[in-house]
Amino acid sequence: MGIKKILKYGNPCLRQQSKEVHKVSKKIKELVKDLLDTLYSNNGVGLAAPQLGENYRVFVIDTSSGDEALKPIVFINPKIVKKSGAFISNEGCLSFPDVYADVRRYLSVTVKALDGHGRSFVLDAKDGCLLAKAIQHEFDHLDGILFIDHVRNRFDIEQKLAEKKLPPLELDRMLEEQDLEIQIQEKLKEDKK
Ligand code: ZN
Repeated sequence: MGIKKILKYGNPCLRQQSKEVHKVSKKIKELVKDLLDTLYSNNGVGLAAPQLGENYRVFVIDTSSGDEALKPIVFINPKIVKKSGAFISNEGCLSFPDVYADVRRYLSVTVKALDGHGRSFVLDAKDGCLLAKAIQHEFDHLDGILFIDHVRNRFDIEQKLAEKKLPPLELDRMLEEQDLEIQIQEKLKEDKK
């Protein structure tokens, strides 16, 4: 138990589909503790089990900052049951040290999951808040999807990956997201008016 090594981009675990959790067993509870310990020791906002090499549908998020009390949220077998709107989210990932990029995301999501005790809960995250971004980012990890698959500017991220000596972009993994892009373009036009 405790602080674990976070896998970096290029490790095949990050591209695998993760398994549903059938029982919130002692093993899963230990995984949750490792995720939180590792998240806090890296000053992160979210961390998903595949980033520790454990392909289970589990992630943790804590959006507290500075002197605020910690508020860890544990998500087991999460489902995004509602999503709406679109915006440009600037994101990084603990598996991509010092790489940030603008990606397309839904503005609001509703997620249903089990907590660390196996109890079901529903959570709304709206208006592109940090929690809404983090839920979508971490949820993707469970399906082997990474934030770089959502980028709007391919050339910008290619350069950043090369600078940090990380593997190149996997072009066949890139998401088209035309519906999100159309909404983003419309919003950018309106902001210019
Ligand atoms: Zn990540």
